[in-house]
Amino acid sequence: MTDLLFRSVLLPDGRTTDLAVRDGRLIDPADVSAPRVVDVAGSRVLPGLVDLHTHLREPGGEAAETIASGTAAAARGGYTAVFAMANTTPVADSPAAIADVAERALGASAEVVPIGAVTRELGGSQIAPLEEMHALGVTVYSDDGHCVANTDVMREVFERIRCFGGVVAQHSQDPVLAPAAACCHDPSVALDYGLVEWPPTAESVIVARDVQLAQETGARLHVCHVSSAESVEIIRWAKQRGVAVTAEATPHHLLLGSGEVPASAPDRASGPDPLYKVNPPLTDNEHIAALRQGVADGTIDVIATDHAPHPADAKRRPFATAKPGMLGLEQSLAVVIATLVEPGLLDWVGVADRMSLAPARIGSIPDRQGRPLTVGEPATFVLIDPTRRGVVPTTGRSIAHNNPYAHRELPDPVLATLWNGRVTWADPALGLVPA
Ligand SMILES: [Zn+2]
Repeated sequence: MTDLLFRSVLLPDGRTTDLAVRDGRLIDPADVSAPRVVDVAGSRVLPGLVDLHTHLREPGGEAAETIASGTAAAARGGYTAVFAMANTTPVADSPAAIADVAERALGASAEVVPIGAVTRELGGSQIAPLEEMHALGVTVYSDDGHCVANTDVMREVFERIRCFGGVVAQHSQDPVLAPAAACCHDPSVALDYGLVEWPPTAESVIVARDVQLAQETGARLHVCHVSSAESVEIIRWAKQRGVAVTAEATPHHLLLGSGEVPASAPDRASGPDPLYKVNPPLTDNEHIAALRQGVADGTIDVIATDHAPHPADAKRRPFATAKPGMLGLEQSLAVVIATLVEPGLLDWVGVADRMSLAPARIGSIPDRQGRPLTVGEPATFVLIDPTRRGVVPTTGRSIAHNNPYAHRELPDPVLATLWNGRVTWADPALGLVPA
């Protein structure tokens, strides 16, 4: 393979460097021979992005996404690793299912790290074979889509995963305060359309319970898609007490408010636009500001996409019965730039941390992702131009089209993504051919 040379790129800390790539690794630029010089002078470089929360839908949901299409979308968004959520069909709740995901991921456009289910069939009662899945490399466990609501089950899971350094990624939703039909943050909108309200306390009471169980057992808790100001406060309090808790915020909860949910019909009879239906639901400016501040001060450790592709017929329904979830991989970095970098809440060292280093550390893959961009390390990075902007197209690399950012003008930063030296996405203008 020809050596690649990227001249004069800006590292997160502001230093300028040349990046030379041979056989999947960074080499001393003085050692390159007859390199292919890629003109990206003045652009920035970040370690390859890592998504702790991706729904790839394969196996079982290939009408919405496959491992190939989902990791292609990831590469387009600057990601070099994604953690694949367990709520597939069949559920990834056994060593055989984990091995199947790993085998299907051979040839993908990013590293796919399987997440194991906490309970059998995500049912919330019978604990999955956590240790057997760990023997295949699983360290992150989640029933995402469902909350592990039973306190006894959660405590036993914590006691077991503590023994091998695992972490539970909890979808925090009290099933009494926010039953399965809950979908709406704004009580007046719920009333208008006969929808079921999802109060912020449905999230924060579970977060409060779980941080105390994590403290009691000494195990690691990761809070998925934090959406409320109260949850941010509880996590901040728990961290001050030394609890092993980490948390994520999604791009959509950082950018979109429930005011973004326009009626889908002129007479408003059919309710809000189901494109914006997501669990937990979009909130309002007070919660959005608290989330942004939480990411800025490190209370929220990572940005995670909760990329949730759905086939068109699952979204083209009244709000109450449409599937919750939206795409996120391709525009995640764009949203972070718009909501955190441009307002001065997060610098590039912070972006590298929240989108690469911290998720790699929490997911126990810091040996190969979120690495320093120095000689000898894997050539796993994303080149970006944060000043480039564009209107988000209605189609991307996902099979599904439930993209809440379509038609919006946003940054379009990603110039090229390299994973172990392999170009997994490149702007056509660069003349690099993705492999
Ligand atoms: Zn979830």
